[in-house]
Amino acid sequence: DQPVTVIGAGLAGSEAAWQLARRGVPVRLVEMRPEKQTPAHRTGQFAELVCSNSFRSNAPTNAVGVLKEEMRQLGSLIIKSADKNAVPAGGALAVDRDRFSDAVTETLQSHEKVEFVGREIQDIPDGITIIATGPLTSDALSENIRRLTGEEYLYFYDAAAPIVEKDSIDMDKVFVASRYDKGEAAYINCPMTEEEFNRFYEALISAEVTPLKRFEKEIYFEGCMPIEVMGKRGRKTVLHGPMKPVGLTDPRTGQTPYAVVQLRQDNGAGTLYNLVGFQTHMKWGEQKRIIRMIPGLEQAEIVRYGVMHRNTFLNSPRALRPTYQSRHREDLFFAGQMTGVEGYVESAAAGLIAGINAARLAMGEEPVVFPHETAMGSLARYITSADPDHFQPMNANFGLFPPLSKRIKSKRERNMKYAERAVASMARFAQRLNPVSRLSG
Ligand code: FAD
Repeated sequence: DQPVTVIGAGLAGSEAAWQLARRGVPVRLVEMRPEKQTPAHRTGQFAELVCSNSFRSNAPTNAVGVLKEEMRQLGSLIIKSADKNAVPAGGALAVDRDRFSDAVTETLQSHEKVEFVGREIQDIPDGITIIATGPLTSDALSENIRRLTGEEYLYFYDAAAPIVEKDSIDMDKVFVASRYDKGEAAYINCPMTEEEFNRFYEALISAEVTPLKRFEKEIYFEGCMPIEVMGKRGRKTVLHGPMKPVGLTDPRTGQTPYAVVQLRQDNGAGTLYNLVGFQTHMKWGEQKRIIRMIPGLEQAEIVRYGVMHRNTFLNSPRALRPTYQSRHREDLFFAGQMTGVEGYVESAAAGLIAGINAARLAMGEEPVVFPHETAMGSLARYITSADPDHFQPMNANFGLFPPLSKRIKSKRERNMKYAERAVASMARFAQRLNPVSRLSG
């Protein structure tokens, strides 16, 4: 049997290797650390957590809680190791980072189906392969991925604006229109008076920001400036930039507002909207406080905060199928942050799907698309069907789920229903995937 090559023993690669090995498929797991480090890693352990030690919420009413539950149903090594090495963190799942990584490393290194190779891969290998080299993929491999997928298919930094749930926007305070009424009315516009703008502006320029890491500074030179940096250059920079009101008339006053924040539809279902031009380096608490100063967004539910960091990721709507297979090569899979999912758990979840599908391909079976009503399936669907011209990485969230058949007003109840439907659907799917138990571990 030819082994499946998994490149990168991070969160996604480790999970993918595990899903292959427990199906009896031989794996060649290749990792360049500790020989060659990334700018963020510091050990040679598998699944090293580069920053926080939290896997975020464990609550069933939270989408990332549901995602973990689905992964438990599918025997995830990452979640099992996290559960075993949890430290007290209220409703979140946080871990002792060293013990967690040790557990993942030991399980894989002692598995008879896993052969470990410690080196940097520069060329994309032949045969069934999963590339899970993360946001800090080494330069030579990045270049070869770019060559395979094409110039516009791979990005090297992530400068994303916050995304909010449409349901949480106060539609009485905003208006829907496109600038100069061009095309169909596409944007949600939050109008500001001069006084509202002044208050907002003061908060914006004095907001606390996350300090930049050395390797993140290059982002600014790419002409993508955070909104708060623009603010510091002067009021006019913002008023003539992302908050310019020209060409927009508020139908309630018949006038052009002093300033406008525009929101653009972010997913096909129209449940999510992003703040146009608001890429930001502000701390998350500050983003929430400042976004909620915008008229109409006082109760905004932020499903993804703005970030600016180095991030190698594919334009997955163009490059990937929902099975995490490359559109260019059927036996090549991508997984983890590279695919445009965001976060530790989401990265591992992508690895889980790619691992299962690579195993199926190795065993002569068809790769599968995960059900849309699950957290895993909805995320896979989003990253492979979002608008490719404005694609930005995404966290798991209920805004990606297909709507429920009945409208439920209470958010808590609605989330419970989403969660129940997802877990039940995943249980049926897992049953179909492995009708007779032929799994180990
Ligand atoms: P990784 O975990 O980075 O794994 C990729 C692996 O591939 C690495 O071990 C790397 O050494 C290896 N590799 C790279 N190139 C090669 C090559 N050519 N050959 C062989 N091996 C190679 N998410 C959160 O949820 N919480 C956070 O606090 C958080 N903080 C972050 C901080 C930073 C600075 C960055 C960059 C990202 C952060 N993320 C965070 C986002 C993301 O969840 C993590 O980056 C996560 O580790 C991604 O998982 P992954 O498996 O895709 O990549």
